[in-house]
Amino acid sequence: MSSPYRQLPAVDTLVQQLERRLDGAALPRDLLVECARAELEAARRRIAAGGEAPAAEELAGQALERAQAVLRPSLRPLINATGVIIQTNLGRAPLSAAALEAMRAVGLGYANLEYDLDEGQRGSRAVHVAGLLRRLTGAEAALVVNNNAAAIYLALLALAAGREVVVSRGQAVEIGGGFRIPDVLRQSGAALVEVGTTNRTYARDYAAALGERTALLMRIHTSNFRLQGFVHETPLAELAALGRARGVPVLDDLGSGTLLPTAPYGLAPEPTVQESVAAGADLVTFSGDKLLGGPQAGLIVGRAELVARLRQHPLARALRVDKATLAALEATLLAYLRGRATQELPVWQMISAPPQQLRARAERLAAALGPGRAETLPCASAVGGGSLPGETLPSYALALRGAPPDLLARLLRAADPPVIARISEGRLLLDLRTVLADQEPALLAALRGLPLDA
Ligand SMILES: *Cc1c(COP(=O)(O)O)cnc(C)c1O
Repeated sequence: MSSPYRQLPAVDTLVQQLERRLDGAALPRDLLVECARAELEAARRRIAAGGEAPAAEELAGQALERAQAVLRPSLRPLINATGVIIQTNLGRAPLSAAALEAMRAVGLGYANLEYDLDEGQRGSRAVHVAGLLRRLTGAEAALVVNNNAAAIYLALLALAAGREVVVSRGQAVEIGGGFRIPDVLRQSGAALVEVGTTNRTYARDYAAALGERTALLMRIHTSNFRLQGFVHETPLAELAALGRARGVPVLDDLGSGTLLPTAPYGLAPEPTVQESVAAGADLVTFSGDKLLGGPQAGLIVGRAELVARLRQHPLARALRVDKATLAALEATLLAYLRGRATQELPVWQMISAPPQQLRARAERLAAALGPGRAETLPCASAVGGGSLPGETLPSYALALRGAPPDLLARLLRAADPPVIARISEGRLLLDLRTVLADQEPALLAALRGLPLDA
């Protein structure tokens, strides 16, 4: 028996074998060489640890898998069966068919992004959705940037650098991912002046803090937690009245914001953008990909003179959005204007899906899996994404029976497309509210591959 090292093929031999296996399906030769070397190296390490030389076939299979893994996209679509509708980790709002079509249309070629078709000369990208946003929110002017964090940052830079911003102590919060309002204020060169107490802040607290150096009164919607009990937040209208009386603009960060009321779906009322504008906020900022149901973007609406100062700030360019985002956002806003948002935008389809419909979908899937493998259980979906903390929607889930739930969850994550489920009270649950209807066949295929009870 020769030494196990001698049984390993040469790199060239292994590469030739890979090319034969690929049979014309092209993978770059230097990638094959790299992966063949890596596999041989791994085999030598295993032999050094007392193992045997792998069979040539096995070695080739592993090298090929290694090469294919390099070429597989890292960012992949998946099935969200968590029941959390706006999940930042899972990409927030799914886009409508119209938004995707609009992105495709402008992405495939050129567009009048900064071109005035009437005049035949350079135009401004700021015009494309501004009119729609004015019409939908009642604001005088609008601007779109990369996300809501950028919107807040730009507003503070343009309006408050070197001066003071007055914020309620209960609102100087961390939004998530380490985005803390006090840090953003500092980065923009503004000084935070906290007023009131954690649970109660009155208009008189703000009034007492106003001075020569005050640039802004800022309200932040506490979107990811809820204070209960002995709590008082100064109503926006009172803050706006104070700002007007003292000549200080009010910036309202709504976080998610929404153009549609949430109360008809049994949820607590999330403040609408229109309400903020009507209550007298001078600038309102909100996200494009939370309850609005569009692409990642930061939307700023408000008084024309203030929006113009933001637009003209030198850093506005660093925060601007591209043509694909504008196209998707415009298509999303058009759904609202046509009164079709709940029918056409996935986020609102999911919010408004009747529980009985979700139950029927779960029962159909359970039946397709076969008796004893899964049952339909009532559960609670969340809206998520920095909106409506603690609020849930009644829903139905498929509860799997078989292997331990953490094993099932791991196997589902390894499926193609991956399925993200939730474990509750020792059971693996698939909440149908966030599973898109056309994903059901893929979900069923993934479930059929699991070790479930018969
Ligand atoms: C989500 C959120 C933000 C940040 O918005 P992004 O679009 O994620 O940048 C800011 N403020 C509040 C209150 C939020 O909920």
